[in-house]
Amino acid sequence: MPLTPPGQTHNSEEGYIKYRCIFTPSVAPKAAQVALLNPLRTQLHRLGLIGVYSNGIGYGNISARLETSAQFIISGTQTGHLPELEPQHYSIVNRYSIYQNTVYCSGCIKASSEALTHAAVYELNPAFGVVIHVHHAGMWQRWLNVLPTTQTDIPYGTPQMANEIKRLYAETNLPEIRVLTMAGHTDGLLAFGYTGNDAFTALLKYYKEQ
Ligand SMILES: [Zn+2]
Repeated sequence: MPLTPPGQTHNSEEGYIKYRCIFTPSVAPKAAQVALLNPLRTQLHRLGLIGVYSNGIGYGNISARLETSAQFIISGTQTGHLPELEPQHYSIVNRYSIYQNTVYCSGCIKASSEALTHAAVYELNPAFGVVIHVHHAGMWQRWLNVLPTTQTDIPYGTPQMANEIKRLYAETNLPEIRVLTMAGHTDGLLAFGYTGNDAFTALLKYYKEQ
């Protein structure tokens, strides 16, 4: 029998957790923390930007920084099929290491598979408060290599993706437009901002223009 690593790690398919997840089961996040992003998450689901593919794999996720810390609340893994989330569907990322590909999270559910990508965005600027990751075939095709775009050989949810986002932030107009496409992650786009409204507005501009 192979040794079981701490947490649960999957390495193959879309939506499964690629990082080492150290999960501490606990109570659900507080309602006030969930309120930072849940109305926006519901809106994104209605637009189909967060949802579920016909094969049952969920896509899209959203997070909000807690206070001014490095901690953040993020939608839980495989929640894309749910039209509305409850506090128990969110996870708190208490700490993480991009370098070690490890996330320490707590709540009733493990953090989204792309938690480290969100962490990388929060590291860009301490003022960024909300990160949105969506999937949309039309938008992705329209904006691929037009907006700042991550390299094709970089898969989502990996330390390489975190570093690639930092590169784009330094080398492109990403600080102003705050939306990027992920060439190595079909249909995937990322938007972020100071508030939920701000991130949503940034994304909506390209949603409307697709
Ligand atoms: Zn994705």
